Amino acid sequence: MDTPIEVLHRVFGYDSFRAGQQEIIDQVVAGGDALVLMPTGGGKSLCYQIPALVRPGVGVVISPLIALMQDQVDALRALGVRAGFLNSTQDFDERQLVEAEFLAGELDLLYLAPERLRVDATMRLLAKGEISVFAIDEAHCVSQWGHDFRPDYLALSELHERWPDVPRIALTATATPATHAEISTRLGLDQARHFVASFDRPNIHYRITPKSEPKRQLLEFLRTEHPDESGIVYCLSRSSVEKIAEFLVDNGIAAVPYHAGLDARTRALHQARFLREDGLIVVATIAFGMGIDKPDVRFVAHLDLPKSVEGYYQETGRAGRDGLPATAWMAYGLQDVVQHRRMAMEGDEAHRRRQVLHLDAMLALCETVGCRRVMLLDYFGQKGSEPCGNCDTCQTAPESWDGTVPAQKVLSTVLRLARERRQKFGVGQVVDILLGKKTAKVLQHGHDTLTVFGVGSELGNTEWHGVVRQLLAQGLLAVEPAHGALVLTDDSAAVLRGQREVLLRRDTLRPARTKSTTTGPAKPRQAVDLSPEAAPVFERLRAWRAAAAKEQGVPAYVIFHDATLREIAATSPTTLAELSQVNGVGENKLAKYGEQVLKTLHEAA
Ligand code: ADP
Ligand code: ZN
Repeated sequence: MDTPIEVLHRVFGYDSFRAGQQEIIDQVVAGGDALVLMPTGGGKSLCYQIPALVRPGVGVVISPLIALMQDQVDALRALGVRAGFLNSTQDFDERQLVEAEFLAGELDLLYLAPERLRVDATMRLLAKGEISVFAIDEAHCVSQWGHDFRPDYLALSELHERWPDVPRIALTATATPATHAEISTRLGLDQARHFVASFDRPNIHYRITPKSEPKRQLLEFLRTEHPDESGIVYCLSRSSVEKIAEFLVDNGIAAVPYHAGLDARTRALHQARFLREDGLIVVATIAFGMGIDKPDVRFVAHLDLPKSVEGYYQETGRAGRDGLPATAWMAYGLQDVVQHRRMAMEGDEAHRRRQVLHLDAMLALCETVGCRRVMLLDYFGQKGSEPCGNCDTCQTAPESWDGTVPAQKVLSTVLRLARERRQKFGVGQVVDILLGKKTAKVLQHGHDTLTVFGVGSELGNTEWHGVVRQLLAQGLLAVEPAHGALVLTDDSAAVLRGQREVLLRRDTLRPARTKSTTTGPAKPRQAVDLSPEAAPVFERLRAWRAAAAKEQGVPAYVIFHDATLREIAATSPTTLAELSQVNGVGENKLAKYGEQVLKTLHEAA
């Protein structure tokens, strides 16, 4: 029988375990239970796949992500692992076939949709085979927040009663301590060892840029930093999803929309294209992405502010699962704050309070002058990390300035409108008053006779918007939910009386972009920088891979990851033995694709 490290080398073709994997695998191989918290892209799958290959019997994986089972199984089969799945998308014959394989001991891994466990026949089937391990993926689904699959997941506690000797491993990327505790109780994992991996994703470069012309900014970001690469662009509304997707296509960039308003077939088609094609962009609402384990998503862009840091981290976490450099980019501006402050006022009192807490944390992340990663990790309970060198604020430290006087000017304009005129206005009018603009609306309301009219000539229109945005973010100013008019808060008074200083961040519209691969302590793993000679070879290999993937009807990454192709391009092996040394080239793929790769390299030379 192989040891875990031998399986890692032979089957997966990887050099070494990632942080945490070895300990988790050892625990399960030895027959113990495990509860694993690891960020998206951390490498959870190997933690149950390797025990399933090392221990006798079939590893049973419970996963709610039915739409992705086919791809997961294809990826395993490409590695020579005998995998199958049972879910509601199959007809009777297909299920029969898998069941027969299971009974004949011809499977290493069996993926099951949770609802299958409530079918008696499934339990009877499992009882007839030998099971090596139960893996419960997306284990947070047992918690009260995972409503969709909850009843099915609650049935999982029965597994332990029927198979007390089979080790169980529950995995999730959801980090809050409450969820963690709930998983443990609901699944009866009292004896389990808990493994909590670092939540850092060092290969992701975080950047939050002031929003001026979002479409143009997005286009420039895509063209200069991620041409022809796969990524996700998140927007808040269906209509902006449609508009942005169209805009990208009009500009010659391959993009498809994805939101809950599209029919199921179109959604499935767009998701499948995203998984299969190289360099396709999906423009989506947050309805897209759950369980998407495409490893080579090179960027996640937000054109609208996420509702919480949890949401932001989950969405950005879909970038760079393969460990190569990836970018989390967001354009953020005054309208985002206004809109979210208004939305946060909806619902009952308890709901509002929660929303405001979430929003304040998100806004603090946007407005920080410190390292974004330090703040993110701190938020998830990993205190005291060092500045990362791979985020925008580390690379171009934003200046802060004493904005007390401008803040007072804004607040006193709002105050005077309310006191002297019994009026409330939005940002545009307040800024026009400060700038002394005699617009029709200013003249119509006689606002040119206010004492604050024209007192703000020291700043321009954009800067004033920046000031208002930060006052809103800091809770020194508020917006009315109904009309978005500006109103004072309890904290405004101290600023107006000169008892409180206001520190603001100077917005730099285009911070210099230092290349994330070369700076800072957080070196992304496996990043191979391609030389001018190797770059075209990589493109040739990519083209070969695209053709092979198409022929076999599998996603390109099932054949080889980008990281592997890059390493092949950089080292240009000339023999199968040399090729086998490349990370990601295991026994099966060497046999299957080795000759083709060498031939492609030969032609490229
Ligand atoms: P998760 O389920 O935690 O989001 P995955 O299991 O999908 O993450 O792993 C993320 C990526 O990292 C996958 O493409 C996987 O092949 C790769 N990977 C996992 N472990 C290793 C390792 N030890 N060496 C190299 N690559 C790895
Ligand atoms: Zn940083």
